[in-house]
Amino acid sequence: MTLTKYECSDCMQKFLKELPKCEHHLHLEGTLEPDLLFKLAKRNNITLPPTFPPTIEQCKTRYDNFSDLQDFLDHYYIGMSVLVTEQDFYDLAMAYFTKATADGCLHSEVFFDPQGHLERGISLDVVVSGLSHACEDARTSFGTTNKLIMCLLRHLPSEDGLKVIESADKYYQDGIIHGLGLDSSEKPFPPELFEECYALLRSKFPEVALTAHAGEEGDYTFVENSLDKLKVTRIDHGVNSKHSESLMKRLSEEQIMLSLCPLSNVKLQVVQDVGHLPIDLFLERGVPFSINSDDPAYFGGYILDNYVAVHTRFGFNLEQWKQISLNGINGSWCDEGRKQELRMLVDKVCSKYVDVL
Ligand SMILES: [Zn+2]
Repeated sequence: MTLTKYECSDCMQKFLKELPKCEHHLHLEGTLEPDLLFKLAKRNNITLPPTFPPTIEQCKTRYDNFSDLQDFLDHYYIGMSVLVTEQDFYDLAMAYFTKATADGCLHSEVFFDPQGHLERGISLDVVVSGLSHACEDARTSFGTTNKLIMCLLRHLPSEDGLKVIESADKYYQDGIIHGLGLDSSEKPFPPELFEECYALLRSKFPEVALTAHAGEEGDYTFVENSLDKLKVTRIDHGVNSKHSESLMKRLSEEQIMLSLCPLSNVKLQVVQDVGHLPIDLFLERGVPFSINSDDPAYFGGYILDNYVAVHTRFGFNLEQWKQISLNGINGSWCDEGRKQELRMLVDKVCSKYVDVL
């Protein structure tokens, strides 16, 4: 397929940076940059296995050559082994919030994987305390809002997921953890395996926010089954929804947002180029989506890099970008007051650029 490349002018880049953005698909463990990784390994006296790239440069080369999702995950789980203390989790999250704020991201809903830490003997209290303190400090220091979403690792048995949900009870009760997601290797572990986990959390907290990774490597039925069996109200990735007209119609009618991750999809070879993603199709069919960075330390870019990459392939105009920004706000899990504030900021930025773009 021949792709058109659009220019992202300096003016457009400034607009995209200032445009209020919300991030809904971001794994905090996936923001672990090689410099922080090696710093924490040293701080915690951790010896990485001999197969792990020994320098920052070699890490970066490895990141340019993931063969697929599983190859990435194999590296990712070793990398997160340097996270041990509350301070480590705090430093990790603060580094992300600092970068996201600089990119014009005003509201983030961020994932973490407790099972990846519990199995290494790190308690849930250590993980959540570090992350939640960073959330509070980001709010105070940057004026941004954020929410924590706990994810279950789908390559582990659902019984394990049930235990984690039970142990996180007090955090859901206090609103420190806002939602539940499902990540890791998708294809061999369809959503229906986790029906009981989602049902358990819903029975305890009927208003809890639910999402799941689906339709990245799995086909579009993974998206349908996540909606029908897990009762999620958002889908992470969901690119394979493009293969079903009836599913796209449903996503549009029910305003179920897809959290797309363009640069991640290229790095993990879901598509060869951002231009092959159905982003224009979704926009045309009224399927709401947001644009996100997934695991930015590994996939070559934070949220603004993803916006710019989409622009260079689709050349959207100001009105289309405004729609994308508003869809991200509307699909967020913040309260109506915050959404209203963000919508007003979108109007302000768009008015500033309407005559120059
Ligand atoms: Zn993801």
